[in-house]
Amino acid sequence: MSVSTPGKLVIISGPSGVGKSTVVKDLLKRFCGLLRMSISATTREARAGEKEGVDYHFLSDEEFTRRRDAGDFLECTEVFGTGHWYGTLWSEVRPSLAAGKWVVLEVDVIGAQDVLAQYADAITIFIRPEEFQELESRLRSRGTEEEEVIQRRLSFAQGELQHADEYEYQVINETVLDAVDNISQILKNRGLPND
Ligand code: 5GP
Repeated sequence: MSVSTPGKLVIISGPSGVGKSTVVKDLLKRFCGLLRMSISATTREARAGEKEGVDYHFLSDEEFTRRRDAGDFLECTEVFGTGHWYGTLWSEVRPSLAAGKWVVLEVDVIGAQDVLAQYADAITIFIRPEEFQELESRLRSRGTEEEEVIQRRLSFAQGELQHADEYEYQVINETVLDAVDNISQILKNRGLPND
């Protein structure tokens, strides 16, 4: 069933290493107050510098399963290529939408489909690299993943790119500034008041 609310959901997907998080962080600064980020839950470990409740809600496998069974998630999935569960908590979404805010969800292509099935008016944006090669360089320069994990994420990235056409908008992350400008324009065109 599709729901209509005062606020809107903005779904942002894109392959691992494309720089989604940086783009989204800058985007939020531009529309401070009106646009907020849904902090996902995950069973993966925090990377160096990541903070609980800021980057993710880091949950144990048991806690994630408990919350899934309790119906706490709008969507959740074992993100292919990571070996971990990720999900959007209702508590991150419902109160903001009810307050008329726009909420950004950074989810994989499966999560995007699940969200759209429930919120048909969600705006969908796919961030892609200028060239596939950039993903590998970014994943390596991050220096947080083992070689095997990098290879898994790259093959997953190829799969994700094949779904790009299912999104309303595709934005190339050539520079963060341009990508943020493009997404800002899309959101303004769709009715988000000016920054
Ligand atoms: P990372 O481990 O690099 O932070 O995230 C890996 C992938 O998990 C991201 O590329 C993103 O697409 C996906 N992801 C992050 N949060 C969620 C979520 O709440 N739901 C779903 N379905 N995917 C997510």
